[in-house]
Formats: sequence, C-alpha cells, structure tokens
Amino acid sequence: MRIIVQKFGGTSVASPEVRELVLRKVERARDQGFSPVVVVSAMGRQGAPYATDTLIGIARTAYKGIAARELDQIMYCGEMISAVVMAGTLQAAGMEAVMLTGGHAGIITDATFNNARILKCDPTRIISLLKQGKVPVICGFQGMTGDGEFTTLGRGGSDTSASALGASLNAEMVEIYTDVDGIMTADPRIVNDAKILDCISYGEVCQLAHQGAKVIHPRAVEIAMQKNIPLVVKSTFSDAPGTLITNIAKEDTDGAAVIDKVATGVTYLTNIVQIKVHLDETMASDASFKVFKTLADSDISVDLINVHPGQIMFTINADHAERAAAKLKRQGYEIELLENCAKVSVVGGGMREVPGVMASFIEALSCNKIAILQTVDSHTSISVLVPQSDVGAAVKSLHEKFGLST
Ligand code: ASP
Ligand code: MG
Repeated sequence: MRIIVQKFGGTSVASPEVRELVLRKVERARDQGFSPVVVVSAMGRQGAPYATDTLIGIARTAYKGIAARELDQIMYCGEMISAVVMAGTLQAAGMEAVMLTGGHAGIITDATFNNARILKCDPTRIISLLKQGKVPVICGFQGMTGDGEFTTLGRGGSDTSASALGASLNAEMVEIYTDVDGIMTADPRIVNDAKILDCISYGEVCQLAHQGAKVIHPRAVEIAMQKNIPLVVKSTFSDAPGTLITNIAKEDTDGAAVIDKVATGVTYLTNIVQIKVHLDETMASDASFKVFKTLADSDISVDLINVHPGQIMFTINADHAERAAAKLKRQGYEIELLENCAKVSVVGGGMREVPGVMASFIEALSCNKIAILQTVDSHTSISVLVPQSDVGAAVKSLHEKFGLST
C-alpha cells in the first residue's frame, strides 16, 4: 500500500468551493495509486465562526480565567466540525470517507493541555480502513491521553498530527496544503521578489520556523525528520509543485546539484525587548546564574544571550518585559531596557564553514545604516537584533545581499 497523508489548513476547508478543490487533490492522489489519509484544521481564520481563535474567544467571555483543560474541550470542536464536513464532501463524491478524531486515529499524548506532546501514534485503525478502500478524514491538532482526556497539540498543531500520522504509517509523503505555493525565501509582503523554494532541508525549515517564518510547525518537521518522511508544502488553490522538505536540500529533479547558495531564506521576529543587566564586583560570583534562574522561575524564555564580566545582555518577548524588569529590580539588579526591537535571521545550510558570510551580513546592514544591537550565529544561521522600525530594510537588504532575489 502506498500511503500519502494530505493535510489541509483552515483556508483550504473554509467554504464549499474550496472543499471541492480538496476533493480534487484527494481524487488525484487516488488516481496516482495512493491510499490517501486526509487531515484537516479548523475552518477559516479568526472571525470565521468555527475557527480556533473564534472558539477561544467564546470560551474567554464565559470564564474569568479558563483552565487549560476546559480550553482544550472547546478548541477540539473546530476540527470536529471541519472533519465531519470534509468527510461529507468526499462521501457526496462517492468516496467511502470516515471521520476520525485524533484519539480515534490513535494519537496518544501526555496530559499537557493546550500543548500536549505525542507519546505514541497507533496506526491500526487507519490501516484497517485503508485496506477496505476507505478514506480516513482525521481531525488535526487533537490528541487523547491514555485515560481518555481530550488534548490539543499547540497552536498550528495540525501539521504535527499529519507528520506523526505519516511517520507511524510509514507514508511515502506528507503533503501540507495551504494558501501559498510553497515556502518562500522571505515574507513577500516585505520582499516583493521573494521566491518559492523548490526544496529545503528539514534543518533549515526548522530554523526558519523558529525564527519567525510562518511556514510549518517546527515540531511537524522534527517528527518527519526522525523517520525521513518527505514533506511537501503546497497550495490547494493551484497545481504548483510546492516546496519539498527532505534531508537533502538543493538538489534538482535530475539529482544533479544546483548552484549552491550560502543562504536559503531570511526571516524575522518582532515584539522583542533587549535587557542589559549591570553586574559589579561587589555582587556574588553567582549573580549571573541568579538572573537567569529568576527568569526561568517566572517561565520567561530568553534569547540572544551574551554574558560578559560586567554585564549580561539578552532579549525576551515584549509581553513579558514588565514582569521580568520588576522581578530583576526587586532582586537589586540595575537594568536597562531597549524596547521595540526585532530579530532578523538569515538561514542556510550552505553557510557552514564559508568564510566572509558575517562580513557580507554586516556590510548589507551598515550600507543601509541599520543599527546592529546584537548578533548571534550558528553553523547554519546568523541573526541580528535591530530597531523594529528597520526590520523591512534589514530583511530586504539581506535578501538581496545573499542573492536570494535571483
Ligand atoms: N486549528 C488549530 C489552530 O488554529 C490547529 C491548526 O490550524 O493547525 O491552531
Ligand atoms: Mg497552520
């Protein structure tokens, strides 16, 4: 049996017209000899009646502070509605479609409500349906604990469901259908000559996702990578081939290496605050440890960390800035806050051990008079903290400097 998992995002299931397009994608997979397993997200985006954000809004009006478990019960409904309706669409076209919840599909999670981790995925029921020629239509985003509690996999978690199902079914491919033709070299709202990538490695796409690109849930990529299942991000609304995510990037269809680029994409995160903590010799030797411990105890995650003898510097999400500042001041630290910052990152497996990458990076920014507040790099990425007002200029100049427009 050649299994393909086809996951359709919210905009792909939002109306009867687009559900017809989904039907065609499923029919095509069958015509090509695949046994399709369909995974769906909740219908539409914020504002649509059954979108996840709408359901969260409804719950929040009824509760002062809703418990994570209760929130999962209402968030569950979005995918339920979507999967029933999608299964109906396939049935109306003559397919034997069977709607399944995440639990029915064998997705067992821990009990971390709202952000559960998949512990195991038992494909028995799906395999038996496929053997009977049926098409399972599965609610993405959903899991179930061993003792039957409903859980969800974190926002954007339908991708994770698709990947986990693909891995457990040993699928030939997992297709992630969305409303764009594939993964782009940059946000097209900023860079008008951003390009669709033909292929990208698992590692690169994880970095892009973690650094702000809204392409695919990074956990979905990590799961597919473990089992080496190819992922394809493509559009429901076109026949474009999409972006193939595998462990070999930059290979063309003939298998010959194409022109190697140092960078694959540029991405950004906004709403960041930089914090500097001053340390002096009168402080205890474990002062810097205590700074990070204070933040960790308050569940505040830190990024872009530099520790120097007289100073610690790091960034946090602006939503936590007030709380972090208050805690640190209470402990007697002298701190400086720089608000309205953004982190811009260039990602590329090709930059490993290539000399001059940092020089080009800095050159692109300084030519455009963009202040560099902090930098950090790894083998496959370089990130810079800049004033948020410069984020567009920084992304554009780096995209051009690294030849991503050509
Ligand atoms: N409906 C869920 C969300 O909005 C899951 C998903 O769309 O992937 O987060
Ligand atoms: Mg999504």
